[in-house]
Amino acid sequence: MNIDELLKANQRWIKGKLIGDEEFFKKQADSLHPQLMWIICSDSVMRANEVTQTKDSENLVHRNMGNLVVPTDENLLSVVHYAVNVLEIEHIIICGHYGCKGVSASLNHQDVSYLDHWLKNIKEVYVNALTDLEKIEDVDKRMEKLVELNVMESVNNLSNISVIQNKWKNRQTPFIHGWTFRPTNGQLMDLEISKSGKEAPITEE
Ligand SMILES: [Zn+2]
Repeated sequence: MNIDELLKANQRWIKGKLIGDEEFFKKQADSLHPQLMWIICSDSVMRANEVTQTKDSENLVHRNMGNLVVPTDENLLSVVHYAVNVLEIEHIIICGHYGCKGVSASLNHQDVSYLDHWLKNIKEVYVNALTDLEKIEDVDKRMEKLVELNVMESVNNLSNISVIQNKWKNRQTPFIHGWTFRPTNGQLMDLEISKSGKEAPITEE
């Protein structure tokens, strides 16, 4: 990969955009108002705006390995805080993807590294569902199930953090959705595990 070529390509891209619309970048900057927040895996090829035919400016995207919601992750928590308290986003979509290398790597024991430490969260999901997962003989299907269980865990974790619980004290939003993306056919699937204020447990002041 020639790094200089990337900067030249950027100049060609700018020219191309301005040929169609001289105000393209100004309009894009002015219209920046995301209505959706996505939590997506770093190695997912999915582009939220592309697969939903929405604009870049409508989507606030946070990525990490394995699309995890870890309650101590200040990076994620700050983005969620900004999304729900500043932008007042009404839908947060946690979107896993089949064939995720992060999910499969979580079951390897070869290396002790930052990645292993992070992915142990997925390993815990695996261990907790071990009995059911081992009933699935096909290894690929078992991994797909783990991808889905991992999204479910992230939806549950996100719905329990204080930023969300505080919003749910007196309103239904934000809705939290658990979806998956299949890179081999481009399909999004709703796992039908959405959560909102109505379903939140009533907590004492
Ligand atoms: Zn992944």
